[in-house]
Amino acid sequence: MVVYTTAKCGHCGENWTALSPNAPNTVFGKLGPPVIRCASCLKDNKTGYKLIRDLNPLEKLLYVKVKNIFGIIFSLVFIAMGVYTGNVVAYDESIKDPPSYFYLAFACGFIFFGAMGIRNNISVESDLDYTQELFDKNGGFVWSYEMYGI
Ligand SMILES: [Zn+2]
Repeated sequence: MVVYTTAKCGHCGENWTALSPNAPNTVFGKLGPPVIRCASCLKDNKTGYKLIRDLNPLEKLLYVKVKNIFGIIFSLVFIAMGVYTGNVVAYDESIKDPPSYFYLAFACGFIFFGAMGIRNNISVESDLDYTQELFDKNGGFVWSYEMYGI
């Protein structure tokens, strides 16, 4: 078994990330399927990741809860910035240059990304459960296309 360093097959060099920049779980560093089978050469790659059930309680706290909490705080800051920017526009009629819709677009953007962030952080655990299910269903590995889309 070859240990891969990036999202690439360690055997044939197939680049798994090409089509799916939003592959689940890899962003969490340690969380993900321990073995990914390359759909191109059918060989197994050890990832160094752990399934959520294999984490000890401290790791679980660090890699799941703390990151979620920071992610949610970060998202709330975005929303607060959006609301603040929106309020500035609503109460300050002197804003002409750049025009107020410019700020409103920013405000909506902040709120949108904040809301997405919260949604993503809440859905993290179900993604991880899904990875475990796939891992078990396949018999101890996850196909590269199941993780990365190819
Ligand atoms: Zn391969």
